[in-house]
Amino acid sequence: MYLPQEIIRKKRDNIELTADEINFFIQGIAKDTVSEGQIAAFAMAIYFNDMTMDERVALTCAMRDSGMVIDWDHMNFDGPIVDKHSTGGVGDVTSLMLGPMVAACGGYVPMISGRGLGHTGGTLDKLESIPGYNITPSNEVFGQVTKDAGVAIIGQTGDLAPADKRVYATRDVTATVDNISLITASILSKKLAAGLGSLVMDVKVGSGAFMPTYEASEELAKSIVAVANGAGTKTTALLTDMNQVLASTAGNALEVREAVQFLTGEFRNPRLFEVTMALCAEMLVNSGLATDIEQAREKLQAVLDNGKAAECFGKMVAGLGGPEDFMTNYDNYLETADLVKPVYAETTGYAFAMDTRALGMAVVGMGGGRRVASDTIDYAVGLSDMIRLGDEANGDKPLAVIHARNEAQWEEAAKAVRAAITIFDKKPEPTPEVYRRVRPEDV
Ligand code: URA
Repeated sequence: MYLPQEIIRKKRDNIELTADEINFFIQGIAKDTVSEGQIAAFAMAIYFNDMTMDERVALTCAMRDSGMVIDWDHMNFDGPIVDKHSTGGVGDVTSLMLGPMVAACGGYVPMISGRGLGHTGGTLDKLESIPGYNITPSNEVFGQVTKDAGVAIIGQTGDLAPADKRVYATRDVTATVDNISLITASILSKKLAAGLGSLVMDVKVGSGAFMPTYEASEELAKSIVAVANGAGTKTTALLTDMNQVLASTAGNALEVREAVQFLTGEFRNPRLFEVTMALCAEMLVNSGLATDIEQAREKLQAVLDNGKAAECFGKMVAGLGGPEDFMTNYDNYLETADLVKPVYAETTGYAFAMDTRALGMAVVGMGGGRRVASDTIDYAVGLSDMIRLGDEANGDKPLAVIHARNEAQWEEAAKAVRAAITIFDKKPEPTPEVYRRVRPEDV
């Protein structure tokens, strides 16, 4: 049989590991027979010597299979099981519209989401701003809501990819998070454990993105597409822009309000609309619900126009314990901040650049995210009416409206918002919402 230290030695010496060796090591992690020190050494050896695509596929499958892999067969869904994952951003509320829109077109979206990480907002934190919404339902309720509403967005349970939990915790404290092989396996092991037929990956690019450069984002997108398809799940990726806050809001209850208004047609931020449509269209094509992107977009527009997408969201909320009348009376349920006041730029000019990461941190600073895992979230605080790049900032047009608990918090956030947005006397070159698509044949 194998020894963990021999597997580490092989990787240290830059020799390709077999799938059996990787499996053995990961099973040891899940069974606690591999120590934290060995995980750290293994991760560092991968950090320096990297992994081939075959090794990445083996690592992903081993981590996926380290716990429960959901099997939906007994639910007899009459459509494909599809999902999306994003590397995270600021004002990236896409999932809340995308799930219901794809569901309304005939897909089933059992979405297992995460909490906010660093400067990025988390889908689960947003949903928890809805009173009663249960992010940890039983497997039976998760399946039933997915069947009835077409979409259920919940949190990760301990039985999905438990090996990743140990590996990630060790990487976090051993400077081995930023390696594309390890990131690929970490993200995909959790997603693929949800028993998906196909997946779309949204890899963000820009000042609020997890990856530091366009090239690194592109490399991650290619790695994810190659590995997910290698693991048997049809997957494509879009590289989308995070050089500015995506929605008009950033903050938990504020983003939920914007998602509802998007679905009902009250208000649709054009950049958010474009990114959401592009990802949804990709999902419909990947899963066979549409023959091409054009047909997919027509179907998606129809379910927005006829209210079906909004209906799916309302059913999901009610099915998971939230208010039955949320779609019509959301303002009665979503918490609001005590002090809601605009912040203006110090000079007049065009919004030229945004430090999107800093804007995310401004929301975290007000209590809208966590600095440490044990922090509690203030759902009401955040930013709304966000200026977009190229807009003129002047005495009428603020940089944003700050939703704060008190004057001191407002002042601190205002300082951060002013510092994060560069005002210049000319407009910046517009950036596209979607930079490129990555398909299996592109990698
Ligand atoms: N998100 C994950 O789930 N894993 C990583 O390794 C990085 C980001």
